[in-house]
Amino acid sequence: MQHAATRVQEFIGDPVSEAPVVERDTLEEIFADIQSDLRYDHVRNGCLNCGICTATCPAAHYYDFSPREIVQLLWTENLEGIYDAMQEKIWACAQCYTCAARCPFGNSPGGLVMLMRETAIKHGMQSAKDVLRPFSRVMLKLISTGNQLSPDMINPDHFADWGPNISKVEAPLKVLRKAIPMPTLNTTATAWEVNLKTSVELYTIWEMTGVLDQLETIDENLFDVITDIMDEKREDWEDWLDEQDEDDDEDD
Ligand code: SF4
Ligand code: SF4
Repeated sequence: MQHAATRVQEFIGDPVSEAPVVERDTLEEIFADIQSDLRYDHVRNGCLNCGICTATCPAAHYYDFSPREIVQLLWTENLEGIYDAMQEKIWACAQCYTCAARCPFGNSPGGLVMLMRETAIKHGMQSAKDVLRPFSRVMLKLISTGNQLSPDMINPDHFADWGPNISKVEAPLKVLRKAIPMPTLNTTATAWEVNLKTSVELYTIWEMTGVLDQLETIDENLFDVITDIMDEKREDWEDWLDEQDEDDDEDD
């Protein structure tokens, strides 16, 4: 007689089952997505398995992560290993590209990690959701204004958790910035007060490049908040255009 599974059994699954944790079709689809990116052929050539990339990789010093392993997994088309690396390891990379500068074969393990991350997001993998969740506020600002941080925000008041390290960036920024003609970067307010037309164009870019689709896959609530902001800005832009038309009519 077959017994109904307990909630614990449902959670941990059947430990003696021979069924694959992830279907072969899914593994193949994930690998195909990584490979189909135009950048793939530029960042992965042959691999000597020499380990120079891992020897120079800062992330490899601190985490269970090896760029050599990433390249080898893709090079040998180890689909289970690729999927496994996408659960945690790929998020350790600092995207510094020291590996790309050192690899004698011209590989860019950091570039491959980037493709794997994008694929993890596209497939709505839990690892991508977990890694990106703490950055919701950053993504909100970045997507809605195009800016996340202005230079004068980097000061001891805003980054108390940096401790003594903040003294390394403490400087008379306002004076220094005057030497650079970039007024939009001078203050928090102007960095986040983006011209309406620029905002609307930025939103079109996010839509056309699939950024919004990716966001919806990863964080539906944040997607809703951001699309509300976009709708509002677009309405403001349309209103502004209408006002210009009315002013022109009155002038005629
Ligand atoms: S990716 Fe390049 S540096 Fe790294 S193991 Fe392969 S050949 Fe060596
Ligand atoms: S880009 Fe990533 S894999 Fe390459 S050296 Fe930097 S941290 Fe390591």
